[in-house]
Amino acid sequence: MYKVLSRFFTLLLVPVFFSLAGCTESPSSQSAFVLGTLCTVNLYKQGSAALYSAVFSRLQAIEALMSVTLTGSDVDLINQNAGHEPVKVHDEVLAVLETALQYAELSGGAFDPTVGPLVKLWDIGSETPQLPSEVAIREALSRINWRDVFIDRAAGTVLLKQPGMVLDLGAIAKGYAADEAARILKEARIDGAIIDLGGNIFAFGAKEGDNRDTVPWRIGVQNPLDERGTYIGVLTVQHKSIVTSGVYERYADINGVRYHHILSTKDGYPVDNGILSVTIVAASSMDADALSTTVFTLGYEKGTALLADLDKVEAVFVFTDKRIRLTKGAASMFTLTNTEYRIVE
Ligand code: ADP
Ligand code: MG
Repeated sequence: MYKVLSRFFTLLLVPVFFSLAGCTESPSSQSAFVLGTLCTVNLYKQGSAALYSAVFSRLQAIEALMSVTLTGSDVDLINQNAGHEPVKVHDEVLAVLETALQYAELSGGAFDPTVGPLVKLWDIGSETPQLPSEVAIREALSRINWRDVFIDRAAGTVLLKQPGMVLDLGAIAKGYAADEAARILKEARIDGAIIDLGGNIFAFGAKEGDNRDTVPWRIGVQNPLDERGTYIGVLTVQHKSIVTSGVYERYADINGVRYHHILSTKDGYPVDNGILSVTIVAASSMDADALSTTVFTLGYEKGTALLADLDKVEAVFVFTDKRIRLTKGAASMFTLTNTEYRIVE
């Protein structure tokens, strides 16, 4: 389904033109369905068709390498050859996979890029989601193990040791893509832009203020219990990536119970630890993306312990009882706007 949607929306690249009667011809933002989600880039006054095109081509190229659902992608070829033979892949795929494996190690396997069998089994987001059987869950779990990913750097190959293993870079690839988009904007000497890959955000540079001065970006943190675009608060940042893993991103309602898409590699069910969302603020979007999922899977105590060891990475946690907890650095960036929620120490 995603594959079909993806193709369909790609044809619909929608440049959004300034509506103010022809004051400029540069598109002020552009959106397309790439990487399994709606991606929007806003270059404000510095936008040009050529630059938008360069950014979206790059996103599509990354999707073509890293998508688990596109036949013939590097990830798909790795999966097709699981338990069989090493597959030569693009350097970028190796680099993202190596980073993913680092987070797997850091989290003791709570974050695991070989979670694919479980992702396929649950198929959250499909039109007819079904509750998997215990037997099927156990069988899927038996095919998940990040230690069975063999990378041969010199040869540039990847081998999944066991047949039936499935690599899924869904928790990290969008972050890498956002960093790549940011790199292109930096090379083009853009001052400020918003890169939004389905909520995986890079608030690039700074915003132009009313007096042509520069001001920080204000990025809303989604209310996990309300409609998309409804915020519980605002993060004020400059040149940072902001990435959220939340129960609302992708879910299925089965027999009246809501199941979301971040899966426990321990019990095979959606992670259920009282967290509704984790938002990470970091310089690198790939790290922010991997960490949002990692910290979500680890839970608050272990997650904050991991974050404490990292430099300049901050987090906003939202819990089911509407409490919010912030890391020290996040406290100075976050402004609460929804008073149903409360910040606790
Ligand atoms: P989103 O894709 O909505 O931005 P995440 O970055 O948190 O959210 O990634 C969730 C995706 O990561 C899932 O759709 C799945 O592909 C993959 N995933 C699910 N559970 C895990 C896990 N325990 N470890 C690594 N990846 C996971
Ligand atoms: Mg993630």
